[in-house]
Amino acid sequence: MLQETKFHLPSATDPLQVTERGLEILNNPCLNKGTSFNDEERETLGLKGLLPPFRADLEEQVQRVMENYRRHTDPLDKYTFLIALADRNSTLFYRVLMENLLEMTPIMYTPTVGYACQQFGHIYRKARGMYIHLHHKGRIAEVLDNWPSDEVDIIVISDGSRILGLGDLGANGMGIPIGKLVLYVAGAGLHPDRTLPILLDVGTDNEELLNDPLYLGITHRRVHGDEFYEIVDEFVQAATARWPNVLIQWEDFTNDKAFPLLNRYRDEVLCFNDDIQGTGAVALSGLLASMRVIDEHLSDQRIVFCGAGSAAVGIADMICAGIADEHSMSTEEARKLVWMVDSRGLVTTTRESGLEKHKIPYARDEAPAAELLEVVKRVKPTILIGASGQAHTFTEDVVKTMHEHCEQPIIFALSNPTTKAECTAVEAYHWTSGAAIFASGSPFPAVRLNGKVLVPGQGNNMFIFPGVGLGAVVCGATKVTDEMFFTAAKTLAHMVTKEELRAGTIYPDLSKIRQISLAIAAAVCRLAWDEGLAQYPEPDDIRQYVRDCMYHPDYRPYIAAEE
Ligand code: NAD
Repeated sequence: MLQETKFHLPSATDPLQVTERGLEILNNPCLNKGTSFNDEERETLGLKGLLPPFRADLEEQVQRVMENYRRHTDPLDKYTFLIALADRNSTLFYRVLMENLLEMTPIMYTPTVGYACQQFGHIYRKARGMYIHLHHKGRIAEVLDNWPSDEVDIIVISDGSRILGLGDLGANGMGIPIGKLVLYVAGAGLHPDRTLPILLDVGTDNEELLNDPLYLGITHRRVHGDEFYEIVDEFVQAATARWPNVLIQWEDFTNDKAFPLLNRYRDEVLCFNDDIQGTGAVALSGLLASMRVIDEHLSDQRIVFCGAGSAAVGIADMICAGIADEHSMSTEEARKLVWMVDSRGLVTTTRESGLEKHKIPYARDEAPAAELLEVVKRVKPTILIGASGQAHTFTEDVVKTMHEHCEQPIIFALSNPTTKAECTAVEAYHWTSGAAIFASGSPFPAVRLNGKVLVPGQGNNMFIFPGVGLGAVVCGATKVTDEMFFTAAKTLAHMVTKEELRAGTIYPDLSKIRQISLAIAAAVCRLAWDEGLAQYPEPDDIRQYVRDCMYHPDYRPYIAAEE
């Protein structure tokens, strides 16, 4: 149903009426401007004497922050420093982050966020987001009512069961919803005050955490089955009742929950799973750009996956949908181009112990093979994608064997963090004499080989999910569809410049993330309006409308509200 209202964002320039005074303002990160308050604001808001006399502008504050930030050498210290800044002054935090995005994304997100999660109970300082736990069952609506804002555009929720490639981190997983939402704001301009990170604490089976006296989650073994789904159902109901247009992003759930959760809710509420759909789209985009490099079609490739979990199946689904769409073939036919290897070898129809549901469409009707190398020898792949969470699975033998049959092997080592990558950029380039088109999940530096600088692409979901989320939110989408991710992948692939392709990079420069997210969000909106999935009235100029909906970290003038 079409709604009368459109997406409403607080003005960035109109003066904000502030009822708080003095330290109440300085201690509120959403209101605090630190040394930037002008004389009139200091006078009327009770700030006189609470700040040093000199008034600094935002640029100068950024400079001061960076001077202090760069004094830290340990990534975890940098992470703690940035979180502390976000807790003090949200506008300054986002300005710093946006101006130094390439440097800080690996701190606020993978790989450092992984270490931060492992240490979460030990480095914890201040509440951020919400925790819903087992004992809240039956009272989740009441719990969500404690969130101070009636305007929430997006929730990222995780049960901490499969944090990056690090496994079950229980309530420590909170770093991920926090980090992801930071990327939504920096990357696409979702408004920070309207984002809500949630950790669904349904217990942990991590012995180390259960025995850690500083662990902050409930010391209960994980619940599964009906008990798990009842609590999630209650959360979804309560969240959509309080915030009817909210987008829910499922994050870092183990496979056995990730697929069922997505299938359970994808047609009911506005939601998606970035590990499945976002990863799929970013990988598809990388492959589409690779096809631009080798001037071939995806339908002519042979694709071997190492790993058959949510990331691998999400990627394979998206690639097959892409191939089917481009080459007018059925998805089943497209799947014949894919071989999957998991911890038990090639995924085949003849496995005695049966197959998990998500692997069935990719099970091959052929002889088993225990090792990846055996599969590479048999299949002679042109594309090798790693999403196994297992470091060093792309051995020299595997890569060289692949290269024997393929002039320019396309190798994606997507497992995070860096220590889990299936191979490094240096290895991929050296073992193929620089011929490989390489991308990874975590960033690797450029490699100099035979006088050429090879720049590995980072198949970072950040290229996709912020734009898709922004698009879905600002048009008031009723659901997020695979077509939206497919559109996002194509949009991204087209944004890689010819120069970038020549340097072997198949993703655009991450520093252009705002432009990328704008283009993706506009494409998602276009699709939503065309498909009748958008609740808000269509604007004349979608791109301009999306641009106007994006948050920029600037200080707003304040005036004292009458008391
Ligand atoms: P998962 O646990 O769902 O799946 C892991 C899969 O790897 C399983 O099928 C398992 O059987 C298989 N596996 C384990 N050991 C193996 C081995 N030695 N050889 C072959 N297969 C093996 O995890 P997931 O959610 O699919 O994530 C996997 C990895 O992908 C993680 O490291 C994650 O960080 C990464 N990932 C990357 C991106 C990205 O780069 N954009 C996005 C999402 C996930």
